[in-house]
Parts: sequence; C-alpha cells; structure tokens
Amino acid sequence: MRQKLVVGNWKMHGSRTQVRQLIEGVAAGSAGLAQVEIAIGPTLLHIGLAAELCASKGANHLKLAAQNLFAEPEGAFTGEVSAPMLAEYGVNYVIVGHSERRELFAETDQAVAAKFKAAQASGLIPILCVGESLAQREQGASADVVLAQLDAVIEAAGIEALQSAVLAYEPIWAIGTGKTASKEQAQEIHRVLREHMAKSNATVAQGIRIIYGGSVKAANATELFSQADIDGGLVGGASLKAEEFVSICKSAD
Ligand code: PEP
Repeated sequence: MRQKLVVGNWKMHGSRTQVRQLIEGVAAGSAGLAQVEIAIGPTLLHIGLAAELCASKGANHLKLAAQNLFAEPEGAFTGEVSAPMLAEYGVNYVIVGHSERRELFAETDQAVAAKFKAAQASGLIPILCVGESLAQREQGASADVVLAQLDAVIEAAGIEALQSAVLAYEPIWAIGTGKTASKEQAQEIHRVLREHMAKSNATVAQGIRIIYGGSVKAANATELFSQADIDGGLVGGASLKAEEFVSICKSAD
C-alpha cells in the first residue's frame, strides 16, 4: 500500500511573515492527519526559516521540499545551491525537472538526470516531474513525451534508483491555468508510467508514488486521489492558502 503524498510547491512566493502564517495554518490544520504524508516547498531562501518554524511549532509531521538544486556538491557556481546544503537544513524532498525549469531555464533531460542523481547521493528524495505540452497532447504524444523524460533518468541512474524517488505527472497545460486533467486523463498517464517501469522492475513500479500536479484544488482532489495509480498531488497555487491546502491534504488522508 503506497502512502499518499501531498507536496506544496510555493514557487517564488512568500515573505518571512507569509511563510510563518502559512506554516502555522498548515501545521494546525493538518495536525490530526494520520495517513497522508505532507511536504511544503518554500523558496530556497526560506528553507532555513521553514525548518526552524516546523520544529518550534511542533509541526515535525511537515516535511520540507526544495524546489531546485544544482548537480555539483560545491564549487564556483554562483547563485546555486547543492544537495549537501539542502540535506544539512533537514530537507527531505527536492523537485527536479519541473516544467518551469525545463522551459524558463532551459534544463535538459540530461541536466534533470544529473540533479536527480545528486539529490539521491545526499539522501534527498527527488520528485521527478514529467509532463507534456498542450500541442503534444493534441498530437497524441502525451505518453511518448513523459516516457522519454522518465527514460532519460532511468538511463542515467538505473531503474532501481526510482525506489527512492517520487514521480510527478504534471501536464504543462494544466499548471497554473485552472485547467485540471480529468481523473481519467491523469489516471491513464499514471498507469502508462507505472506499466513502463514494471517492464524493467515490477517491485519498483508497484512501490513508487506517482503524484499528479496541475491545478489541484480542494474541489477536485478527492476524485483525482481516488484513482488507482494516483498517489497524491503536487500543488502549486492552492498550496499558498493554508485552508485550501489542508483541505487537499484531508482528501488524501
Ligand atoms: C506546479 O507548479 O507544480 C503546479 C502543479 O501548479 P498549480 O497547482 O498552480 O497548477
């Protein structure tokens, strides 16, 4: 039985005050949830503050997710942050291959794979994002696109590496647009991803959590999370409102 996971991706949002308020709200609202695993993803600048707040507010049930990392452990890489640095701050998860990074920061499949490996080398759990554009979906290429993105990581890291990873299906056309994939559309791609991994390693395929991202909100979370291959959500906009995010977490509990 895979434990459901809900991750809030705060993207480049939040002041120190907002981080405090959001953590207080999520911590209080989610305190009694026993089944679901919850992670919050503040900016890299706010990771230390978030770690301190979770500890001081008795919210150790909230895991920390970083939104990005650089593949090298240290060196002359101005502006970057490494996996060992994140690990030192108590970070549990790190998002790699988010479509905003692939599109806006020209991250290639190879760069994503390098980040994936670097995360695991420091004991972090990578959340590998895959997803197709609207044009690719309309061409009927959704499965091919996500499988190619997944295969780039399998080639670099090996199928067994997915045992300590999370996969996130995030159709680009559903991110921040208010357009959610229907539960059938999402389930179909999750099934394709799992069956693909099963061809190489059935244990990995059965164990890995595949979460869905793309305009998840309280109103659609229950139906998405009730699908056989959807093991939770990666939540952007709706994770910035404590009440809404907690309600999504309750749908997974
Ligand atoms: C995301 O960026 O990972 C995401 C899913 O965003 P939103 O929920 O706002 O669509």
